[in-house]
Formats: sequence, structure tokens, C-alpha cells
Amino acid sequence: MKIHEYQAKELFRKYDVPVPQGQVAFSREEALNVADLLGGYPVVVKAQIHAGGRGKGGGVKLAPSRQEAGNIADEILGMTLVTHQTGPEGRLVQKLLVEAGQDIAKELYLSMLVDRETAKVVIMASREGGMDIEEVAANTPEKIIKIYVDPLMGIQNYQLGELGFGLAIPKPARKQFAGLVRQLYTLFVANDCSLVEINPLILTADDQVLALDAKVDIDSNAMFRHKDLLEYRDLDEEDPQEVEASKFNLNYVNLDGNVGNIVNGAGLAMATMDIIKLAGAEPANFMDVGGGASADQVENALRIILMDEKVKAVLINIFGGILRCDIFAEGVVQAAKKTGINIPVVVRMEGTNVDEGKKILADSGLDLTSAVDLKDAAAKIAAAI
Ligand code: ADP
Ligand code: MG
Repeated sequence: MKIHEYQAKELFRKYDVPVPQGQVAFSREEALNVADLLGGYPVVVKAQIHAGGRGKGGGVKLAPSRQEAGNIADEILGMTLVTHQTGPEGRLVQKLLVEAGQDIAKELYLSMLVDRETAKVVIMASREGGMDIEEVAANTPEKIIKIYVDPLMGIQNYQLGELGFGLAIPKPARKQFAGLVRQLYTLFVANDCSLVEINPLILTADDQVLALDAKVDIDSNAMFRHKDLLEYRDLDEEDPQEVEASKFNLNYVNLDGNVGNIVNGAGLAMATMDIIKLAGAEPANFMDVGGGASADQVENALRIILMDEKVKAVLINIFGGILRCDIFAEGVVQAAKKTGINIPVVVRMEGTNVDEGKKILADSGLDLTSAVDLKDAAAKIAAAI
């Protein structure tokens, strides 16, 4: 689950990770109220969307006066912000973070993420922080320091020393820097994060270390034990079909192609996407209705897939185990009658009660193409497209 910068900074404050003073604002008026509270200029007005690269896209601006702060708030609120992370369609900005402008001496980079290869949290850091970090990673990867934290031992002092040395943290700031890294690691583990990124982490002219930007992703699979973090979820930032699917416990991911897929089981879903690509078609989505789906869930799955205008044909690939084929077929018929499918549908079904399932489909009067196996199904869907 992604959260906004202002929420990530709220979390940082709870863990004593230093951040600039600031607050979220939903209108020009609120933005000015926050600016007044900060008690001095410049202030920085920052678009809050679930994507980075805002600075380069015109979503982060320094306001030297109250007048300018109002103008900038007007300009950014309601804009469709396009950055290298939003894709060409951009994101509508509905909230701002207004914070105290900082006197930046140096912009550094610091992040933590889960490294699957070593099964450890890796800390990545660079002296070359700021808005061009992607280029640093691509062209001069040696400028990125990596420290692997043993989950049993936690961060060791020598590792903090290595980081401080690598980032050339000046002596008066070292203790504060070490504390910040320790606190950030505590936050990462306690909240089941998959990513925490501070870019830039700044050194001020008077040797303070401060998180100027904050990106936090929380492992969605761990949300059940972080009910307090659920309030940070922002449905405006999520794909509407994915939100709808999550209400019915369907594993749904929107993709770029035009073949809608309904499959039971993640492994089968992956195999289905592979084989239809091999046959020359492109998946429009990944939809796993799960092992024990009910007829209602199947109905919702089909309804959600048909909401997507890119979908020009649907492939239903079911291996009946816990989900029996007859239950599944009932769901398909129910959904088809309610939504009125007017695009080709190919069905491949195998497993428990397959004959009953096939009979339900055949008797339904629906115009479905049946396939004998996965390869046949892929060829038929590619032909239909
Ligand atoms: P993004 O990563 O989405 O571009 P950032 O929060 O990193 O957004 O902001 C972009 C740049 O704006 C930073 O690299 C920094 O130079 C400047 N900036 C951001 N917040 C402040 C602030 N509070 N004071 C001064 N400059 C800031
Ligand atoms: Mg940034």
C-alpha cells in the first residue's frame, strides 16, 4: 500500500525521524493557514500524489511570500501532474503539503527495502541525492552504497559508521544521522514496510540532518496487523477497478492488453497470461478469483472485467478443485444474464464436476466457445481478438 508524503512524514515524526514543519492542505485557504502557522517564508508547496518526480513535473514550488504561496496553491491544486512515474495520463492533484522552506547545504539519498536475494533489509545511500538519482543509479552505480542488515542482529554501529563515512556526513551531524538511520529501521520493521525512501535527505547549513521528502510503501499482505494504518489508504490514487475487485477479495491487476482473463489460482493465472502471449494475444488483466470462489465472486469478477473498455474478448480458464466447475458455471451464467456480454468468451474448464459445469453452460443459451485444453483456449482467444 502506498501512502502520501504528508502521511509518511507523520509516521516519521512518531519515530523521531526529523522532518520539516508542515501540514496537509486541501484548498488555497487551508494552504495559507498552514503557511501562517509556519511563521516565515519561504514555504514550499508540494503536490501530494502517489508518484515521485513531482519537482521536475512542476509539482513542488518554493513560495517567497504569502501572495506567492496562494498563487502556487491555486496553480497546483487541480492540475494534472505528469511525472516520469505517473505515465502520460498524469494524476489529478487534490491535496498539498505546505512546509517550511529549508536552507539546503547538501542533498543526499537514503532508502531501505527488502532484498529478496539475501532475505535482508538493504540500506541504500548516496552522496548524489536529489532529483537525478535515477541517472546516478544507471550511470554511476558505484556511487550507491549498500548495507545489508541482519534481521537477528539489527543495524550494527560499524554499519552506521560506514554509511556516515560513505555519505561524508560532517562530524557535528554524525550522531544525529546515526540516530535517524536507527529510527528509520525501527519504523521499517514495525510497520512491515516494503520500501522507505528519503530523497533528498538534507544536510542544512548548520549541520542538521532532515528528511525533506518521504516515501513509504507498506506490504499489503501485512495490513491485517496494521489497522491503524488503514486510514492512510487513499482510494483516489488507486485504479477504480482494482478497488472494486478488492471489495470482493479478488486478486485483480489491470494490464495493457485486450484479453480479459478469469482464472482460479495465481499460478494458473500466470500460466494463462504466458500462453495467450505465446498465441499472439495480450492480457488486459490478471484476475484470480481464488481457490474457493463462490458464484457471486465469479459474477463480480466478470462484471469488473467487463467494466474495462479495452477488453475485447474474455478467456475463462478454470481448474475445478475446491471451486467446483458447476458452481463456477452458475456464476458465469448469472453474470452474463445481468451484464449482457457482447464480446467473444472462450471457456476452458477441467476438474471436479466438469460435466455438470459444461451442461450448465451449454443449456444457458449463451454464446460461449469452449476449449478442450489451455493451448486450444489460447489459440481460440487469439483468433477471436
Ligand atoms: P519529488 O521527489 O517528487 O521531486 P521532493 O520532495 O524530493 O519531490 O522535492 C523536490 C525538490 O524540491 C527537492 O529535491 C528539494 O530540492 C526541493 N524541496 C522539497 N522540499 C523542500 C523544502 N521543504 N525546502 C526546500 N526545498 C525543498
Ligand atoms: Mg524526492
